[in-house]
Amino acid sequence: NKQIIFQDYVTGFPKETDMVSKTSTIRLNVPQGSNAVLVKNLYLSCDPYMRSRMKKSLVKSYVPSFTPGLPMAGYGVAKVLDSGFAALKEGDLVWGITGWEEYSLITEPETLFKINHADVPLSYYTGLLGMAGMTAYAGFYEVCCPKRGEFVFVSAASGAVGQLVGQFAKLMGCYVVGSAGSTEKVDLLKNKFGFDDAFNYKEEHDLNVVLKRYFPEGIDIYFENVGGTMLDAALLKMRLNGHIAVCGMISQYNLEKPDGIYHLANVITKRIHIKGFLVLDHYHLYPKFLESTLKYIKEGKIVYLEDIAEGLDSAPAALIGLFTGHNVGKQVVVVARE
Ligand code: NDP
Repeated sequence: NKQIIFQDYVTGFPKETDMVSKTSTIRLNVPQGSNAVLVKNLYLSCDPYMRSRMKKSLVKSYVPSFTPGLPMAGYGVAKVLDSGFAALKEGDLVWGITGWEEYSLITEPETLFKINHADVPLSYYTGLLGMAGMTAYAGFYEVCCPKRGEFVFVSAASGAVGQLVGQFAKLMGCYVVGSAGSTEKVDLLKNKFGFDDAFNYKEEHDLNVVLKRYFPEGIDIYFENVGGTMLDAALLKMRLNGHIAVCGMISQYNLEKPDGIYHLANVITKRIHIKGFLVLDHYHLYPKFLESTLKYIKEGKIVYLEDIAEGLDSAPAALIGLFTGHNVGKQVVVVARE
């Protein structure tokens, strides 16, 4: 059983060598009388929140730190090989938290979602139809309180969450601008995902000037994925009673000291509704989300872009690539196709 082992807690930018590939000779099986499920992992998801699991948490976190010497873990799509859990049987396909290894014994099978619609690419359940999709859906519809015609700004817009937020906003009849870190990504935002406009934040010297250019009348909704100077500039351009959904702050995850925010007082003067959220609190909406999103995919109203890394050994590089913008679209690792 090939595994990607977490080496030790990380400070600063994570490196490929923080995770090493090893082969375990321990044979996994479902112990007699347990409700565990043995799975073969097919697709793994690389997600920015995994960075927080790579440091030793000093306070109780919503996700525990990885344990040095044990395999990494994250969202994935897998096939059930054996099951002591009544709701799953051999041959079923599932998505949920699994190990970064070829085979995993899942001891909390109630956390897995059974895949009932396999007429779309299975890898979609690592993102679009899984955690990232739910994040975009819950964050946009539940937290942003969107209305037709509003001005929406999305950062890290070409990524797993951002590309969907932009498309949900367009379906709602909003005006949407996204920021991303390369010309290729800006082109995708405008020509594939249907954003009204987009810009490369790495080529801009003054984000305040840029946001003024794209939002002369101000921003009603800011879907926040990056934090730092981008949040600061957005605060300055928010309209009265605007909404900021604080989804993530990837620019801060590898810093020892957070970047300064100077314009927070705008929250007061502009009566901004600023709300952080965790997708974990919204999974009761999953059936509704799945039904509507599958329909949109089949009607061609939602398109999706994945960045596929081949083989378990490519997982460490794929994960750290999220923090330099190496991924173009949702970062997926293929362990096996069936
Ligand atoms: P992405 O697919 O968007 O990948 C991360 C992207 O972030 C990179 O491709 C890069 O794109 C951008 N990025 C990396 N470093 C920086 C930086 N220093 N400044 C600006 N942009 C940067 O990831 P996801 O869509 O999966 O996640 C997006 C955000 O949503 C993250 O902050 C994540 O933590 C958060 N999240 C929150 C959840 C919740 O429950 N609240 C659940 C899931 C995700 P570029 O080339 O454009 O710079």
